[in-house]
Amino acid sequence: MSGIIIAIDGYSSTGKSTFAKAISAKLGMVYLDSGALYRAVTLYSLEKGLIDKDNNIDLEGLQKALESDIVISYEQNDETGLFDICLNGVNVEKRIRMLDVSSSVSPIATVPAVRNFVDGQLHLYGSEGCVMDGRDIGTAVFPNADLKLFMTADAEIRAQRRLDEMKAKGEEADFEDVLKNVLERDYIDSHREMNPLRRADDAIDLDNSHMTIEEQMVWLSGILKERFGIEMQ
Ligand code: C5P
Repeated sequence: MSGIIIAIDGYSSTGKSTFAKAISAKLGMVYLDSGALYRAVTLYSLEKGLIDKDNNIDLEGLQKALESDIVISYEQNDETGLFDICLNGVNVEKRIRMLDVSSSVSPIATVPAVRNFVDGQLHLYGSEGCVMDGRDIGTAVFPNADLKLFMTADAEIRAQRRLDEMKAKGEEADFEDVLKNVLERDYIDSHREMNPLRRADDAIDLDNSHMTIEEQMVWLSGILKERFGIEMQ
C-alpha cells in the first residue's frame, strides 16, 4: 500500500479515527488525524486568549501565531505505536479531546489561515502515502486520493459513542451537551465558506450506525480487493 492515500471524511464522531487506525495497523500505513491539528490550534488559541467563551476570534493574533508561534511535531506513543501530536514540544494528544476544545474547534476551523496552515502540515506528512481522516480530505486536501470513504451514523449513536469515549478517559459529561456539540459541529463544518464538509462525488458511503469495527474491516476488505487486488488477511 506504499504511496497510496486513503481519505476518510464524514460527520463528527462517526468513528473515522477508529476505522482509520484499524486500517493503518492492518495495512502498515501511516495514520494522520487532521482533526488533531485543528484541535491543537484551538488549544493554543484558548490558552493565549485568542478565542473567548462566545467563540469570538482575534483573527490578527491568530494569523501571527500561525506564522511563527505554533510549532507542531509528533512523538511515537509506546503503548499505541501511533504518533501523538505535540504543540510547541508538549504532548497534547489527550488534552485536545476535552470538551472545551471540542466546543471551540469548529469556529477556529472556519478561519482560512488556519485551514491553510493545517493543509500545509497534512501535505508535509501525508503526501508519500497515508490513511487520513477529516472533513475535507477527499474534496480539498487530497482530491486525487486513491480511495475516498464518506462516513455517516445516526446523531444519537454518535453522541453516545463520544460520551463513552469521554467517560472511559474519566471525563464527566452529559449526553445532551455532547449531542448538542456533535450537532453544532456538523452544522458549522458543513456550512463554512472554505472547504466545507461535503461528500466527494467519487467517495464510497459507509453508514456504520449498526456496524462493529470488525464488520467495517470486512466491508473494506471487499473494496480493497476490487479496487487494488489486495487481499486483506
Ligand atoms: O475529527 P475531529 O472531530 O477531531 O475534528 C475536530 C474538528 O476539526 C471538526 O469538528 C472540524 O470542525 C475540524 N476539522 C475540519 N476539517 C478537517 C478535520 C477536522 O474542519 N479535515
